[in-house]
Amino acid sequence: MNTPDLAAWWMPFTANRQFKSQPRLLAEARGMFYRSADDREILDGTAGLWCVNAGHGREEIADAVSHQIRTMDFAPAFQMGHPIGFDFATRLAEIAPAGLDRVFFTGSGSESVDTALKIALAYQRAIGQGTRTRFIGRERGYHGVGFGGVSVGGILNNRRVFTSLPGTDHMRHTHDPARNRFTRDMPDHGAELADDLERLVQLHGAETIAAVIVEPVAGSTGVLPPPKGYLERLREIATRHGILLIFDEVITGFGRLGTPFGADYFGVTPDLITTAKGITNGTLPMGAVFASRAVHDGIVKGPENLIELFHGYTYSGHPVACAAGLATLDIYAREGLLTRGAALAGLWADTLHALRDAPHVTDVRTIGLVGAIELASRDGAPGARAYDVFTDCFRAGLLIRVTGDIIALSPPLIIEPDHMGRIAETIRAALERAE
Ligand code: PLP
Repeated sequence: MNTPDLAAWWMPFTANRQFKSQPRLLAEARGMFYRSADDREILDGTAGLWCVNAGHGREEIADAVSHQIRTMDFAPAFQMGHPIGFDFATRLAEIAPAGLDRVFFTGSGSESVDTALKIALAYQRAIGQGTRTRFIGRERGYHGVGFGGVSVGGILNNRRVFTSLPGTDHMRHTHDPARNRFTRDMPDHGAELADDLERLVQLHGAETIAAVIVEPVAGSTGVLPPPKGYLERLREIATRHGILLIFDEVITGFGRLGTPFGADYFGVTPDLITTAKGITNGTLPMGAVFASRAVHDGIVKGPENLIELFHGYTYSGHPVACAAGLATLDIYAREGLLTRGAALAGLWADTLHALRDAPHVTDVRTIGLVGAIELASRDGAPGARAYDVFTDCFRAGLLIRVTGDIIALSPPLIIEPDHMGRIAETIRAALERAE
């Protein structure tokens, strides 16, 4: 394949000039593999971008999308509806954690986050708590790139140039390698960090705080599973102070941990869950916010002729995305993918933790079918070593993701043991070559 003209596409979260001087182009995808534009097989260690949970090129989804475009390509969802949107919401509600069975459709994870934050404000106002306008996020959280998500997010480079919503504050992150190095599943230490929410209540006043948002497992900043007891404690403090708890499950939703949602895995039920990515197996942009009955009913009340929530997107409940989503849920159900990770998590953990003696490795973390390998940074060049490992792996036929000096892995949930072995071998070889 000829290299296309690379000038016009201003690429997202990319070092554009460096990339365009040595592009890495993916051209085809099937099952566990991509094929690069220069015709090499690339094992997908990241499910695309944490989204292709059922593997690539699923014919059923392609057929459903094609059929839906031919049947009805688009329909408005403002004061109108379409059966496939209601069918998809019903199916999602059936697999949602108990009680979170009201579904608001969005077009992405970022939109889901901003939607959940707005729902939280609307709910607090609707129940007579209109002074609650503040949001609490967490350091090292990633909640997408809308102004709401950036404000509650905790990544310096995503925040420093952009104005944040007034009044947002952050709990400390839970990453504590000194106490929790080489943890499988949940780390032992750090539950007390949830008390940061109590501290912020004492600082700002509970009556100013609408919601607290966390990823059950922080993904984008390097796979940080919650310490044992942490999420329970957060739930208890939030409830005690009338603060809504939002789980951002854009990554942990749809089977990543071996349960349908992270809330199921940890046995902690939030008031709102944000999702995207795996909802359509990454095939079409879509997201959804799951709301508890209490939150939904708190807002959807009053005169029946009035719009209850002044919020929504042209593409909320897009019929083609709903078709993709229904076909995706069918595959998840038929192949047991929402729980398959539970059976594979032990082998996944063994495979990755065996890399603890590889050069440069300072920590390995695994939970469900997610994993991270943290490297010592090269002196004066943070991130450079992991970037070199990333490009080396790509040349050797493996797609990984790196953030700073952390390698993050989240393969499609159809992964087999031999793929796991290949991922670990390729990374080990790259680490051995790395300076
Ligand atoms: N929230 C979390 C936890 C994410 O991991 C992501 C994306 O990786 C987002 C939100 C943003 O999703 P999107 O890129 O679809 O806007």
